[in-house]
Amino acid sequence: MSIERIPVGVSSCLLGQEVRYDGGHMKHDFAANELSKYFEWVPVCPEMEIGLGSPREPIDIHQDIKGDRLIGAVSGEDLTGRMNRFSEQRTVELSIRRIRGYILKKDSPSCGNGGIPVYNNERDIVDRRAGFFARSLGEHLPSLPVAEESDLSDPDRADRFLTQVFTYDRWCELVEKGAPPEGLREFHEEHHVLLEAYGGKEAGELKKWAAEATEANRAETAERYELSLISMLRSEIDRARHLETLERIADGLDLDSAGRRRMILDRMLETYRSFSGSIAVARVVLISFYSRLESISPDIERYLEPYPTPLATALEKFTDSGN
Ligand code: SF4
Repeated sequence: MSIERIPVGVSSCLLGQEVRYDGGHMKHDFAANELSKYFEWVPVCPEMEIGLGSPREPIDIHQDIKGDRLIGAVSGEDLTGRMNRFSEQRTVELSIRRIRGYILKKDSPSCGNGGIPVYNNERDIVDRRAGFFARSLGEHLPSLPVAEESDLSDPDRADRFLTQVFTYDRWCELVEKGAPPEGLREFHEEHHVLLEAYGGKEAGELKKWAAEATEANRAETAERYELSLISMLRSEIDRARHLETLERIADGLDLDSAGRRRMILDRMLETYRSFSGSIAVARVVLISFYSRLESISPDIERYLEPYPTPLATALEKFTDSGN
């Protein structure tokens, strides 16, 4: 069965392209091998695209009275104007390309999403911020799900990013149809278990906005809904809230309380409760029970399978292998 892949931006070096300052790459196996089955990559190397070759001199971020400058570490060449013009134009192109997420290379003065040293004239570190291209992405595409490749090694951060990308993709499809009020209510109905697990009481606001959406207020309602939706999905996983949701779903299964299946479920819940299991693993166990036992309602399915289960299984293997 062929899967319709989702367009997602990526720092080119993570796919194995030899575009780094030292002439090498930083291929990320999980992205290049597993995520490629689901994502149609839109690779970008800002430093190559502004005309710097590979290999090239490294660049740094410096602070002066005009603000942050991107400077060649050997030549002292000021690349700020070129990089800013490029970044603005490329983010517009990416938005037209309808990307649904982005994986950035950590620690790069162009692509890093935070923590990049900013130097003064004496070469002291005076601050740490995002790289130039990453800043532009955040400014021009504020709802876009973004991760660094290192986030993919953390089960909960990776799960959160994948949940964001696939949910954002479904949301964008609705927006591209004009976010009709009925469509918004259906979207909320389908996602309410997921949103309550992520947002708790805040999810009630979204329910209210969806219920009150009309033809007259639909653009404004969709804008408000999107902001809250994204901010909820970006929040840290609240294990107590997820545990409550998992227990509720497990209790809804018609299982013999002393039977083997119930024991397996209880063990999985206990593992999650004791902070040693990831939410993705807990969901995979529950969805396997559903597929054997009974049909599943769309709202529970969305919570248990916010992105394809084979991808959750591949992610589990990748993070378990200590990557
Ligand atoms: S981190 Fe960004 S700028 Fe640096 S090589 Fe990779 S894609 Fe190019």
